[in-house]
Amino acid sequence: MEIQQPIIIFSDLDGTLLDHYTYDFTPAKSTIAQINTLNIPIVLTTSKTLVEVTTLQQNLEITSPLIIENGAAVYIPKDTFKEQPIDTVCDGNYWVKSFCPDISHWLTIIEQSPKEFNGLYRGFSSLSIEELVELTSLTPKGAESAKCRQYGEPIHWLGDSKSKELFKQYLTDAGANVLQGGRFFHVSGDCDKGKALTWLATQYQTLLYKDLLDGESITTIALGDGENDMAMLQAASVAVQVRSPVHPFPSFPVRKLDIVQTRKFGPEGWAQALQTLLATQFSSESQYNQITNSINSEAKHG
Ligand SMILES: [Mg+2]
Repeated sequence: MEIQQPIIIFSDLDGTLLDHYTYDFTPAKSTIAQINTLNIPIVLTTSKTLVEVTTLQQNLEITSPLIIENGAAVYIPKDTFKEQPIDTVCDGNYWVKSFCPDISHWLTIIEQSPKEFNGLYRGFSSLSIEELVELTSLTPKGAESAKCRQYGEPIHWLGDSKSKELFKQYLTDAGANVLQGGRFFHVSGDCDKGKALTWLATQYQTLLYKDLLDGESITTIALGDGENDMAMLQAASVAVQVRSPVHPFPSFPVRKLDIVQTRKFGPEGWAQALQTLLATQFSSESQYNQITNSINSEAKHG
């Protein structure tokens, strides 16, 4: 199958490609396989660490670049492009572009917070594996991977919402960027999934698809369910808000381009939205029918 124009898919994990409660991705499996055969990159764009996401990526059978820790860094497998992307460093089999200072900088700021906040929060790095397992329903091995953070510190808030806002204000004044995730808020630098998306899309545009695009912008599809996905959805050509079982769709401050809101939750909504979007990208009728038939048969089974 040939697509009419190059596309890159950027996808959040928790609550989007992975079920909010069970972390299951079975309903998206056949769609991932289909996208792989079309050579469309699926860039996992997540608050997770490199260690966590590489294991998941293998299970998902995806080999594209990764955006980790809420856009703090982009990890690009060295065989993605013929040359080293600008402003990157080498880390094993990856070229790495980072967008903010590393974790030690943010831990110092948190440790220096006023005494009034003592006992009102727990940071990831101070939690034992057992405590983390209890808070997240991760397995012990998963919790260990989650603790390998390089660029920021997730905070579990124990106090009331008023003191939480004051704490967030202290962090912001100290130069941190605070992002509300599903279960934690993340303290990191001035990075977000949107900036990382824009940077990586530019690398694809200049290093891989230059001739094919002939001056046109590359098409980016972003999928996410939470507040921490909004910058990414804002930056993409097509934004897919995946329905969450625990909160309403976050609203866009300003949005002019295409927005899709899924009817189904998590990985089921993910698959259905991409099936529909990709079907519109196929030129010949037979290819289009093949795709729509597969949506219909999925709908029957779902
Ligand atoms: Mg999410």
